[in-house]
Amino acid sequence: MTPADPAPVLDLIEAFRRSKTMFTAVRLGLFDRLEQRPARAAELAAQIGADAGALERLLEGCASLGLLERSAEGVFANTATASEYLVRSSPRTLAGYILYSDDALYPLWGDLEGAVREGRPRWEKIFGARGSIFDHFYRTEEARAAFLSGMHGLGLLSSPAVVRVFNLNRFDTLVDLGGGTGHLAIAACERYGRMQAIVYDLPEVLPSARQHIEASPARERITCQAGDFFRDALPQASLYALGRVLHDWDDARCRELLARVHEALPPGGAVLIAEKILDEDRCGPVSATMQSLNMLVCTEGRERTESEFRALLEGCGFRHVEARRTGAPLDAILARREQ
Ligand code: SAM
Repeated sequence: MTPADPAPVLDLIEAFRRSKTMFTAVRLGLFDRLEQRPARAAELAAQIGADAGALERLLEGCASLGLLERSAEGVFANTATASEYLVRSSPRTLAGYILYSDDALYPLWGDLEGAVREGRPRWEKIFGARGSIFDHFYRTEEARAAFLSGMHGLGLLSSPAVVRVFNLNRFDTLVDLGGGTGHLAIAACERYGRMQAIVYDLPEVLPSARQHIEASPARERITCQAGDFFRDALPQASLYALGRVLHDWDDARCRELLARVHEALPPGGAVLIAEKILDEDRCGPVSATMQSLNMLVCTEGRERTESEFRALLEGCGFRHVEARRTGAPLDAILARREQ
């Protein structure tokens, strides 16, 4: 009998090595330096105080991954992908999410076995943190900035598509609940010229949202409001957005939040959800199943199928639930409160 192809297993044995190679090169600031000026390994090693031979191996690894190019003279330079997504000063940088993955997710995933045995997130065990996961991510200004910058970089890849897949023209007011840096509110107000938005989040998050709003041509139409979405009064608006919020919470907490949103909406108002949607058989797409495991190690939440979102939404009084794949990392669901 011909043996089965070992390629998928061999690939998965190596997959974390590829991630860690990129994480380390970003952490060492190699792409930032090479964006200033292409350089040889020995020059970079002297600049950052590293072993020249070991650094050369790391650079060669990055070249094999398509992140760097090496000239015949041994000079390394960023590829276009690295310049756009791995250089910290790039407007579309994903360096924040990479550093957050290296600092927080990598150690949490290191105890995936514990999460599966106990069905519990790992941040308390790995980091000794108490309170909510956000207390941990927001424990210092530096940790908060890293988390929010990570959320922002990934969010920018999805929000324009999320606000485009449905025609949101009829909504004139939006609350971006747990809006983080406000990229979804910004994308919505930039697309719909009459829309006014409020980015609603915990008080410590809003300075970062204000910075991003200030840089948008729609800044006059976007404000911020601090509050706890489980406890404080929610603002009135015809549209609520929940971007990567429901996946942080279990079903009971999601129902609590959706019921509060339903109550804050006028008849005919709607909620727009931006999340990865699991296939109905729950075995794909890979980025959604992996994100669901990610939520297992980080939070009380998980990713959901369209039917699961529908059941949650209809259970809270929403109707006309529509789900759309966007082609971006996050998909979109729109559900209406009855007239
Ligand atoms: N929507 C943003 C995005 O897609 O980039 C942020 C998503 S982040 C996973 C979840 C957000 O919920 C964070 O910005 C966090 O501060 C906010 N959040 C968590 N608990 C909250 C609460 N009790 N009240 C208000 N916001 C909260």
